[in-house]
Amino acid sequence: MDWQDHMGIIFFLFLFLSTQLPFDEALASDLVVAIDVGHTSAVYGARSARGRGEYQFNLDVGAQVKKALARHGYERAFMIVNPKRLADRSRIAREKNADVLISFHHDSAQSHFLEEWTYNGKKERFCDRFRGFSLLVSTRNAKFRDSLRLATVIGRNLKRQGFAPTLHHAEDVPGEKHFLFNPELGIYRYDNLMVLRTANMPAVLVEVGVIINRDEERILLREETREKVARAIVNSVMEYQLIIGDRTRMSKRG
Ligand SMILES: [Zn+2]
Repeated sequence: MDWQDHMGIIFFLFLFLSTQLPFDEALASDLVVAIDVGHTSAVYGARSARGRGEYQFNLDVGAQVKKALARHGYERAFMIVNPKRLADRSRIAREKNADVLISFHHDSAQSHFLEEWTYNGKKERFCDRFRGFSLLVSTRNAKFRDSLRLATVIGRNLKRQGFAPTLHHAEDVPGEKHFLFNPELGIYRYDNLMVLRTANMPAVLVEVGVIINRDEERILLREETREKVARAIVNSVMEYQLIIGDRTRMSKRG
């Protein structure tokens, strides 16, 4: 080979890289993630063992997830915070062209399991029996199969970060008895949750942990725990995109 042959190879290599690299970058920023922050500042959801509202936990974790996604090229990720009505959540996600919706919540337990203790001079309620995450999906969601795929990768990644699922929503007690799609990953069937049911994109509700559990609440309050959750979500979004990425891109361009 003389130098002209090399030039040919270099030219084709250049052509190859120039068409491949921007394409892969586009892949990362292509997917739009709606981060739904469960409940509102006025109606804050569950109350933790130390009297902190669930909404504040959801907001803190949502903000951390948004930051982590942006760092990894998902700059179009956005949060849904304090909407007027419950139905607004899926509407906002739709209007902003979200490809997936992940709703963040923190868990409690049925009231007959709760006991009393005094924290900071105030009577609070707690339940130390249950701990761990749950992932909720609705078969009434328009993209149920993809919702289940997304829940599966989220479950695997949460476990990789050291979290474990709770199975208490499947217990044979009033208010629970929810069907478990996957006991290893804590994936439950919750058909009627408004945000999951009305979303026109794949949607998963993440109960990050049980804040009525005194020990788990302490762990969930730590910055490093939120960072682990955020890492799990980023990795899940990337994996999910590898599974369905081509399809999303094709439908967006077609
Ligand atoms: Zn909640």
